[in-house]
Amino acid sequence: MVERLDPLESTPPTFGEEAARQILRDRFGVESSSLHPLAGERDQNFRVDTADGPRFLFKISNPADDRPVLEMQAAALRHIEHVDPGLPIMRALPSVTGESWVEVPGPDGRTYPARVFTFLSGQVIANTALTTEAIWSYGQITARLGRALRGFFHPAADYEIQWDVTHLPKLRPLLTHLSDAHRRAQVERVLDRFQARVAPVLPGLRAQVIHGDLSLDNVLLGDDLRVTGIVDFGDMTHAPLICDLAVAIADVLHGREDAIDAAESLIRGYVSVTPLEEQEAGLLADLVAARLATEITISAWRQRFYPDNAAYAAGSEPGARAFLDSMHAMGMDSVARRFGDASRGLPYRRSATSDLLERRRRALPRSPLFYEHPVHVVRGEGVWLFDPDGRRYLDCYNNVPVVGHSHPRVAQAVTEQQRLLATHSRYLHEAIVELAERLQATMPPGLDAAMFVNSGSEANDLAWRIARAATGRTGAVVTACAYHGLTEATHALSPEEWAEGEQPAHVATIPAPDGYRGPYRREQDGWTQRYAAHIDDAGRALGDHGLAAIYLDPAFTSDGILAPPPAYLREAARRARAMGGLVVADEVQAGYGRSGTHLWSFQASGIEPDMVVLGKPMGNGFPVAAVLVSSQLLEAIPEEIELFSTFGGNPVACAAALAVLAVIEDEGLVANAAKVGAYLRQGLLTLAERHPVIGDVRGEGLLLGVELTDEARQPATGHARKMTEAMRERGILLGATGPAGNVLKIRPPLVLEREHADLLLQALDEVLASS
Ligand code: PMP
Repeated sequence: MVERLDPLESTPPTFGEEAARQILRDRFGVESSSLHPLAGERDQNFRVDTADGPRFLFKISNPADDRPVLEMQAAALRHIEHVDPGLPIMRALPSVTGESWVEVPGPDGRTYPARVFTFLSGQVIANTALTTEAIWSYGQITARLGRALRGFFHPAADYEIQWDVTHLPKLRPLLTHLSDAHRRAQVERVLDRFQARVAPVLPGLRAQVIHGDLSLDNVLLGDDLRVTGIVDFGDMTHAPLICDLAVAIADVLHGREDAIDAAESLIRGYVSVTPLEEQEAGLLADLVAARLATEITISAWRQRFYPDNAAYAAGSEPGARAFLDSMHAMGMDSVARRFGDASRGLPYRRSATSDLLERRRRALPRSPLFYEHPVHVVRGEGVWLFDPDGRRYLDCYNNVPVVGHSHPRVAQAVTEQQRLLATHSRYLHEAIVELAERLQATMPPGLDAAMFVNSGSEANDLAWRIARAATGRTGAVVTACAYHGLTEATHALSPEEWAEGEQPAHVATIPAPDGYRGPYRREQDGWTQRYAAHIDDAGRALGDHGLAAIYLDPAFTSDGILAPPPAYLREAARRARAMGGLVVADEVQAGYGRSGTHLWSFQASGIEPDMVVLGKPMGNGFPVAAVLVSSQLLEAIPEEIELFSTFGGNPVACAAALAVLAVIEDEGLVANAAKVGAYLRQGLLTLAERHPVIGDVRGEGLLLGVELTDEARQPATGHARKMTEAMRERGILLGATGPAGNVLKIRPPLVLEREHADLLLQALDEVLASS
């Protein structure tokens, strides 16, 4: 390629003004009043003024330019104008015989192609003058141009040019022209990295005809610094689309001290039109470096061969060096990460973990973080979470991403709905109605009314208002270490979070049905009945308050993941109702198929709760929660009281919730919870045989508890804490729960597979062996 005829080698045309006017008149029918020579690298250009107003650009091209390439450029301009008429490109004026250009004999006897274009106003502006907005908008124009060319085809598009960054490795022989050894080593590093990381994947990137040279030399800007003209299509070729963006970043920003920061603005502008694919985003920094390395190398080479043209050839080279230096000073991986972040359109920038931790502790002093060394997460996928260095963590703790972190269907549903409409629920809209109907179809028929809010706390709070209104009573019964929320009303229902000695007078607690370490044990006949009988005592203890409702998490998660036999819930519900209380099933933890048998964890017992509360997993991370209740019960709330939460049931939340239900069904996740849960449970039981500190393994589906105890069945709390830390160090995230905090809590996304269960089991085995 480097042997190819270099246009700089071929002298630019030198037509006289009179000859030019005659071509314009005879071949294009343009009567010029005056001609103004314009600068050009390899062509001769004139601004043409006419007596009746319109201005034109008259371009006599270098005879070295291939005619099929000129034909391609003409066709591309027509294509762009058709697809995106708003783009400020030149339009070719046909010759009197209808051609895009004419061949004209030059003073030297050679034949030159000559073209006339509409004249675009604007000026060539130095990059240091560009504001952040101007740079952002430049990115947008770059993307629009790429999009306008998306469907364009031309047989000459395989045009090979030195500047095409994908050909970077071919420049290696030219590196000898870099006389500074340090510089040569730096450029070599760019080439090495390119060959290792970029070249192998380039053929798989989306490719098309691209402009390929959106530098400020080829673009005119208006007074507001927005692009008013794209004037040169001489480097157009078929290449990966992302190269257009890489070239714009390198060529527009080189020489600016803030080049890397400014690049983020340019990228953001670009992705506002054309989102990047993951692989493209990951390669962008290397492609920018490739363009800068190309610039540096070709300048050095040309300087040797065309000393007369050295000034032009080297014009932008110092800026390219400075930009490449700053990329290397920051570290290519860090720059790649920043560009990747900018391409995702995130409104924040990644910080170093230690800085972030300090800032967080200062700004959010009461906001809890897991682990002695908190996990800094930047993205998730399926059962995995990733930190900024790309280390992955197997997430065995989170029920929020019930269908897997960042599930594409949920993400897409949310994004598309957000683009379409995001408002409150006081207008008529399909999503909220469909969601209500879909949920009702999964519930006992009596629960024919749905109400949507934003969090489990809010849903339990609302259920509490309904319970009090419907029963006329004011007391509640909850299990001894229950958690039902953060609000004033639900904190009262959450003994797990009560301060020392705090117990509201209107709340009574019952022992949770712990058949392993509680007062009644699984081996004893009627143990569940005996637990349930405590409800009577608790109800009586409420005195004048009377029992408005019992709140039950059917899996007793915060009580230590107890999963009692179905008879317990039946008996508990019966006794609560006998005292006139309502039964609220809090499915915030255990719902959405986690139990492996039903969508809702109360269903295995056959009870029909008066209210069902849904939350956390409902939107796979998008805040949405609900209360399902009977319309009859709702009548207790006076008509004049409006039950409305601004964000509750907004179209985006409902789109998320509907997508979650669809994914659970389509991917068979309830069955997967049963299958992988049973496998994992079996593995845990096997571990228990080897490690006596495992006192009990219990739970259903993918909500499992591993209780750690000493020989006297006393809680090994310190042990559990150490284990969660040790597992975190091994890249597996677990929690600890229960009144004594000695129960390892395994509650992964329902897309957990056997191979993941094996990773968990193996790591647990090792940690248990070494502790
Ligand atoms: N109920 C239960 C059973 C919960 O586990 C939680 C939260 N962990 C809540 C209610 C409260 O939900 P939120 O944090 O969304 O308010």
